[in-house]
Amino acid sequence: MSDAQIKSLNDKSLISIDFANSSVKDQLACRFLNIIFPDATAISSEAVTYTSKISINWSVRAWLKSSCVFSPSTTDMTSVGMKVVNFFGNKFAIRSGGHTPDPEMASIDDGILFSLENLNMVQMDESLSIASIGPGNRWGDVYDKLAPEGYLVVGGRVPPVGAGGLITGGGLSFFSGTHGFACDNVLNYEVVLGNGTIVNANAHTNSDLWWALKGGSNNFGLVTRFDLKAIPKKDGIIWGGNIYFSPLQSEAVIKALTDFQQVGQIADPKAALIGNWIRAPATSLTELTDILRITVFHQDPTDGIPESLQPFFDLKPVLSTAMNRTLLSLAEDTYGPAGIVPPARQLFRTLTVGANEELLNYAYAKFNTSYSILFPSLASVAVLTHQPVSEAMASHGARPMNVPGKAQTWLIVNIQWALEISDKKILKIAKDFLDDVKAKSVEMGLDEDFLYLNDAARGQEVLEGYGAASVAEMKTISAKYDPAQVFQEQVTGGFKVSKA
Ligand SMILES: Cc1cc2nc3c(=O)[nH]c(=O)nc-3n(C[C@H](O)[C@H](O)[C@H](O)COP(=O)(O)OP(=O)(O)OC[C@H]3O[C@@H](n4cnc5c(N)ncnc54)[C@H](O)[C@@H]3O)c2cc1C
Repeated sequence: MSDAQIKSLNDKSLISIDFANSSVKDQLACRFLNIIFPDATAISSEAVTYTSKISINWSVRAWLKSSCVFSPSTTDMTSVGMKVVNFFGNKFAIRSGGHTPDPEMASIDDGILFSLENLNMVQMDESLSIASIGPGNRWGDVYDKLAPEGYLVVGGRVPPVGAGGLITGGGLSFFSGTHGFACDNVLNYEVVLGNGTIVNANAHTNSDLWWALKGGSNNFGLVTRFDLKAIPKKDGIIWGGNIYFSPLQSEAVIKALTDFQQVGQIADPKAALIGNWIRAPATSLTELTDILRITVFHQDPTDGIPESLQPFFDLKPVLSTAMNRTLLSLAEDTYGPAGIVPPARQLFRTLTVGANEELLNYAYAKFNTSYSILFPSLASVAVLTHQPVSEAMASHGARPMNVPGKAQTWLIVNIQWALEISDKKILKIAKDFLDDVKAKSVEMGLDEDFLYLNDAARGQEVLEGYGAASVAEMKTISAKYDPAQVFQEQVTGGFKVSKA
């Protein structure tokens, strides 16, 4: 496309269109993109490519029917696409890995879907201190490509999750104890702004935008490249795996989890874990969680079990897969059986509470009683996830995402089910459960306003939890870089700073 053609996209007087009619606008924009970039624009709802592209999202709830799917493979193509939707005034959504379970966050009915799977570069710079990655990468591919070079980066804990959403939403990693969140390790963002301009945002250039993107999600621009601090790891070997417990061991496991937050995680910030209480009633005969699975991790390979994680092994788990291995191998193990479940309707909802044994025991008991109603007919799996976050993780770098500077637990509930007719009931069960745990945390003085964006459900007050000062600053930055408010008005999905 010539410069003159690109320039003409900014001139609405050249043609006369019914700009009030979104269907006409969408058809025109899609047709336009399809003519300029035929291989990158899937347009017909009859076509196999289109159908497979709208079904990339992890949750079937997010398989919405956009008017077309535009999959740019370069930053310049992304910029042209942005100018097109800017000109026609289309609603659009941005999808990197598509792991947000709710509809309309990374999918859209009608409108245009920017699907970033072809922005998938992974490249070390010559100084070997920066890994540049495209947002459309999945973390498994990033680890796989960087390992032979002898480097790792701070990213997701399971292979299929996308880079774009995880980093712009914060990014809790196995390495967060020593390196902070994924966003704390971004040296530079390459961004396409709402008017199609391409800018870089780093500590020296557009530093306010650099700050805002650390947890600011899709409020400011479309990120086309992340330049990340690379962690040298010559042999690529870490230690970790899954340890499984019987539900009858839950009280002891909860005590070990709380002790880890108060002692182990502080003494040994290279250690990390995630706890999952999993109910999979297709095989369950009990009123209890079927499996407690703790994924344990240590940055350094070891001869035995790291001291900070030894208390879990003292409880004599049913099974352990912990060993020295590559990060990718651990990530695959962490994803585990979830990798083989068929596509399902999914939800995530989150709550942050103080680290406390009594409160966690309460949450666990409530999980079992609240969720009994789901089974056997409504849902196939329910998971309560325990993510221990330390003061050290919170203290890395300035960001709008104001993580409390203390030991805390980020809880997630995830439910998987098949039928759309059950959506309303299941969403309510998840909400009621976490509202109940929230009320208990308030009663115990252990409540927190902060909610982790990447694990939140649509409608949760995530940006409000960043605090009024962060929100005010983000609004100023949004007005500066996106004066036409494209990312507030046209990108309808996500947590919008204009609505906070
Ligand atoms: C199985 C599973 C495991 C997970 N593990 C982790 C984990 O280890 N650590 C963690 O922190 N989180 C984790 N998450 C949560 C995860 O970070 C979020 O779901 C995140 O949104 C996924 O990124 P994505 O690229 O797949 O997101 P998408 O669903 O594609 O996008 C999420 C949001 O980000 C916006 N966005 C995406 N790309 C861009 C871009 N390039 N520019 C601007 N905005 C963009 C989208 O518009 C959307 O609103 C996990 C989720 C699942 C389902």
